[in-house]
Amino acid sequence: MPDAGALLDAAGAVVPDALTPLFPPARRDALVALRRDLHRHPELAFAESRTADALERALAALRPVSIDRVAGTGIVARFRGRDPQAPVVAVRGDIDALPIHENTGLPFASVNDGVMHACGHDVHASWAVGAAHLLAERPALGDVLVVLQPAEETGAGAAAILATGALDGVAAIFGAHVDRRFAVGEVVAQPGPLAAAADTFTIALLGRGAHGARPHESADPVVGAAALVSALQTIVSRRVNPAIPAVVTVATLHAGTAPNVIAERATLGGTLRAVDPATRALLAAEVRRVAEGIAAAHGLTATVDIALGPPPIVNPEQPAAWARTAAESLLGAAAVVPLGITNMGGEDFAYYMERIPGCFLRIGAREAGGAPIAAHTPQFHAAEASLFVGAAVLAETARVASAALAAGVRA
Ligand SMILES: [Zn+2]
Ligand SMILES: [Zn+2]
Repeated sequence: MPDAGALLDAAGAVVPDALTPLFPPARRDALVALRRDLHRHPELAFAESRTADALERALAALRPVSIDRVAGTGIVARFRGRDPQAPVVAVRGDIDALPIHENTGLPFASVNDGVMHACGHDVHASWAVGAAHLLAERPALGDVLVVLQPAEETGAGAAAILATGALDGVAAIFGAHVDRRFAVGEVVAQPGPLAAAADTFTIALLGRGAHGARPHESADPVVGAAALVSALQTIVSRRVNPAIPAVVTVATLHAGTAPNVIAERATLGGTLRAVDPATRALLAAEVRRVAEGIAAAHGLTATVDIALGPPPIVNPEQPAAWARTAAESLLGAAAVVPLGITNMGGEDFAYYMERIPGCFLRIGAREAGGAPIAAHTPQFHAAEASLFVGAAVLAETARVASAALAAGVRA
């Protein structure tokens, strides 16, 4: 396990030079304390009650014109703009943790055994509060809604917030994710695909059980499942245009109860990822076709269930330009970097963008000399300085978008 002191230095609550005027020591310390408190007490999707209490207290202290609990553990706080008639913009941070046992060695590591902020949502929640600090001090033209969203990891939180109507009338929405592939101070704010659709498939292969010594009396779903796992690999390699990103992952495979019993049933489960609607539909149709075909070839029947998850995030041009302008004005043109390879992760911010124009950003979270640790691993942590970058960029993006929308620019 790494040395806690060294890690804390590396995680470092140092405000990047360009942002020091925005985060005087009292504000900096309050945000760092909030982030560490959230990190120490992670809670799973829709169970973020302590988290929501802490966030509500932090936001209420900034005197929003309204603050409401929505969708159980969600919060929407409205910060007054300079012109009450100007379009309303929203800034969203997600707040839930993951069922992972933390192994970062951080001095503020999780005290909730088996639960961990392994996706950086402790930072996302804190930078939404940080953005609220900055917007309370220097308001946007229009009102800004600061949205703290539960249950991103289950894909259910954004839809739950939308269903409450709390975001009705919002003209643009912005959010971001920490990313240790990028150094602190680097920001991805670009048009095009930022996250993939994440659909889930379950395939049940039903055959005929038999004694393990009498396979000719069976219709063996284990042999069929083995063939099916291989056949599913041909969807991406033979059916999808090789220039277009797509993923078919078989992640679970269950069958059988004893070494001398041929099972009656096998079940397979996995995830489908695509960044465009046509490929998304193709993957689902092909999983169904291949499963039914392989099942028939083995004398089995296949039942295929495809549960749609978040759609892809494809940032439109104008909101991405506003985010880029904001990031450049705070951090300089060199700070805005390309995403590079397509991100095939899913993100439920996509549900907002089905209804509201917006932009999703990646905020660099790797400290100097640090490794690009993957999210959803026991070692993941975001460099603390990313807290200030996210807060400042989201607040300034809200200001830029608010002014442009009021001037008649269409999102
Ligand atoms: Zn995650
Ligand atoms: Zn996440």
